[in-house]
Amino acid sequence: MTWGSIVKKGRILIVDDAMENIQILHQALQDEHDVLFAMNGTKALHMAQHQLPDLILLDAMMPDMDGYAVCAALRASELTRDIPIIFVTALKTPEDETRALSSGAADFISKPVNAAVVRARVRTQLTVKFQSDALRELTLTDSLTGVANRRAFDERLDAEWRRCARSQMPIALILVDIDHFKNFNDAYGHQAGDACLKKASEAMGRAAMRPQDLLARYGGEEFAILLPYEDLGGAEVVAGKVIDEVARLAIPHERSSVGPILTVSMGVVSVMPSDRFESAMMIRSADALLYEAKAEGRNRFKSKGQ
Ligand code: GH3
Ligand code: MG
Ligand code: MG
Repeated sequence: MTWGSIVKKGRILIVDDAMENIQILHQALQDEHDVLFAMNGTKALHMAQHQLPDLILLDAMMPDMDGYAVCAALRASELTRDIPIIFVTALKTPEDETRALSSGAADFISKPVNAAVVRARVRTQLTVKFQSDALRELTLTDSLTGVANRRAFDERLDAEWRRCARSQMPIALILVDIDHFKNFNDAYGHQAGDACLKKASEAMGRAAMRPQDLLARYGGEEFAILLPYEDLGGAEVVAGKVIDEVARLAIPHERSSVGPILTVSMGVVSVMPSDRFESAMMIRSADALLYEAKAEGRNRFKSKGQ
């Protein structure tokens, strides 16, 4: 996401057990935003998890699961924790207001609602949400290459590791290291080295294109490609593509022992996450394989299953 996306429409989830209330809010917001709705708390939580709205307008009083319970459940989930919530309620006392805000809501609108007020409050909350999304994005992006940084990698690894463990699915990791990159800098200069890192990261991105794949700059001239739900065979295919895509760049490297153009070496692992096997072990294993690939002549990958 970029700063430009701050002007985007925003997706809003309206939660209310009365259709007439949903219609009034929908009417007020549909021209400027993408509007979804749910008529009970369970449905609202499901939609929030799957559609990831930018803002939720939440009725406080609903049968079964009330707005406060929905709010607490949204806050408890990593996926939905940062979605701002505006409580919409007929309750008017300072205690009601305090309860809504202390349960984690960003704002509070009283029923009967006024369309202009709703639009203004919504706009304010969306602006704050998009700004904080953009800032968060910046803290997770490597400024040179534009790919995820080490911090983003660590966060995603943690989340994907747990997800794969829960669903008993494998997870794969490729550690990529550019061959003789110190020599490249020495031969062509640091700026050319920077440009080369950008091109190489783009090539790696073309090799791992599924939505769940994550390419990150792991440090210096080292990259990590995380492939959730991928077995060793699939990860080897991706590693083969990395070799091909980097070769296709045909970046001259006159001081490489491998040949006339830039190449990379890789360690490839796929594991079944479990209590016995931690993510740090997967990284160590990929690192050891990368070292082997270097020792055996570079421009290749070495791989191993769990
Ligand atoms: P090997 O084939 O064994 O991997 O050798 P190498 O020279 O690639 O490895 P080494 O770890 O000795 O050197 C890495 C080099 O990467 C040294 C460092 O100056 C360079 N490097 C790291 N980050 C950057 C960067 O952001 N820009 C540029 N231009 N160079 C960088
Ligand atoms: Mg290195
Ligand atoms: Mg290197």
